[in-house]
Amino acid sequence: MREYLDLRSDTVTRPDEEMRNAMRDAEVGDVVMGDDPTVLRLERMGAELFGKEACLMTVSGTMSNQTAVLSMTGRGEQIIVHDKSHMFNLEVAGLAQISGVQPRTLPAPGGRYDLGELEANLIGTAIQTAPTTLVCMENTFNLNQGLVVEKEHIDQVCELAHGKGVPVYMDGARILNAAAALDMEPDVLCRETDAVSVCLSKALGCPVGSLLAGSAEMIEKARRMRQMLGGGWRQGGVLAAAGIVALNRWKELKQDHLRARSLAEGLLKLGLGVNLEQVQTNIIRIDLSPVDLTAAAFCGRLAEFGVLAKPVELQAVRMICHRDVGDEKISAVLQAAADCLNSLAG
Ligand SMILES: *Cc1c(COP(=O)(O)O)cnc(C)c1O
Repeated sequence: MREYLDLRSDTVTRPDEEMRNAMRDAEVGDVVMGDDPTVLRLERMGAELFGKEACLMTVSGTMSNQTAVLSMTGRGEQIIVHDKSHMFNLEVAGLAQISGVQPRTLPAPGGRYDLGELEANLIGTAIQTAPTTLVCMENTFNLNQGLVVEKEHIDQVCELAHGKGVPVYMDGARILNAAAALDMEPDVLCRETDAVSVCLSKALGCPVGSLLAGSAEMIEKARRMRQMLGGGWRQGGVLAAAGIVALNRWKELKQDHLRARSLAEGLLKLGLGVNLEQVQTNIIRIDLSPVDLTAAAFCGRLAEFGVLAKPVELQAVRMICHRDVGDEKISAVLQAAADCLNSLAG
């Protein structure tokens, strides 16, 4: 099979030798019986990293999100989500199907709510209303842009919501990219949020896994909800061992950001539409309208030159830099993009 430089996502990163060795050697128990030592260790690390009382390992970001909502809300309540959020758009309507909540979407350019609008939608209980009982955020925002939401805005949202007794949940699939970009420890960045999740299976290179951190009470409930969703695995330590390796190297995510920056600058020089101000972490959104190509045509031809990118709109594609396409490969990606554009123009 042909080897591609695969920039469609950071989820394509594979466990390296260190991680595979850790998985092979993992000490295991039984997660449902609560005695898998490696899972317990990873969960302690997660709680500490995010400065929360407790933490739960799940199989995926989607499961963390749905488990969080199940644990933090009741049926018939209302939750606020970004209109472009993963939770609202890409989780098979799990909010409605699993938790039975009514998502109220608000626009949030750059992952930022308008505080006045947010306040107006923190609705109380009355004869006809569904009370707002959770506010959700996403950082980095969103999966096709990777924009950093800074602490100041998170704190403002939390202050507003908490003032009405409403908790805040952070879908932090790529929160460690935000923390790395801000040079801020995750516990500082997330201090005011009530709960936060992070994907281990994206740029950190794990095969499977996500963490959900929050109060001891919330995580105790989340543990039962995860069980209900079928997430009560047994020798989970095999996967948690990979998670421990991953968490220990989260600061290396900065390398991905440097690669993305240099790739973005090169793509811009080739005449592609790239907004450098919006290349804040590992994700590059490329506008193809300046070269008048569709995403399908561009990605199809680029693949022939050995590079995979992901179509995200009719005339936009995304590339995500990650540890499996190292610094030395960035010039090869640029060469492929140049060849691709030449061949389509010719
Ligand atoms: C990837 C992602 C998720 C879901 O993670 P999975 O592990 O793929 O289920 C949730 N939220 C955001 C913002 C993501 O980017």
